[in-house]
Amino acid sequence: MKVGVLALQGAVREHIQILDKLGVEAVAVKRKEQLVDVDGLIIPGGESTTIGKLLRQYDLQAPILEFHAKGKPIFGTCAGLIIIAKHITENNEPHLPLLNVTVQRNAFGRQVDSFEADLPIKDVAEDFQAVFIRAPLITEVGADVEVLSTVKDQVVAVKQENLLGISFHPELTDDTRLHAYFLNMVKKAIEKHQ
Ligand code: GLN
Repeated sequence: MKVGVLALQGAVREHIQILDKLGVEAVAVKRKEQLVDVDGLIIPGGESTTIGKLLRQYDLQAPILEFHAKGKPIFGTCAGLIIIAKHITENNEPHLPLLNVTVQRNAFGRQVDSFEADLPIKDVAEDFQAVFIRAPLITEVGADVEVLSTVKDQVVAVKQENLLGISFHPELTDDTRLHAYFLNMVKKAIEKHQ
């Protein structure tokens, strides 16, 4: 199994380190040709406007949509969640319209720019140490989307078939459980397509 981390901008190295820790081969994906080699893709946190701009510049939008159409799992974290959302409030054009949710950028407001919370995440953990940094919120979810976690009644983690999207950064602590959960999605997708 090989897992790619989209390496245009943001917390790329940290995701690769967690994958290393879990004993999975990780690839920093910068070019569309590299997508052929990987079984799953993580889109990291960072700045969604910048990642979106580079996606267009490097001609990666259509190849990633195709990657998804082949049944390969994608995990978007923080800015990565914004990148895979179908709808972004304030009329922003979506980047990769895949996950059937609406997200609102920087939704926790200035006063609480960054915070940590111990979150229960369905099928993953009772107490996941989640780091939120200028995080987006999921304000609407489609009928085909399963909510995995909420903070104060606000949705912060969802799954829709082969897509996993979370508002926070799971790569900034030692907790590998969310990555392990994603790797299980990748493993199942490989088995299905063998
Ligand atoms: N606020 C950033 C954005 O809108 C996301 C922040 C993050 O990834 N930590 O893209």
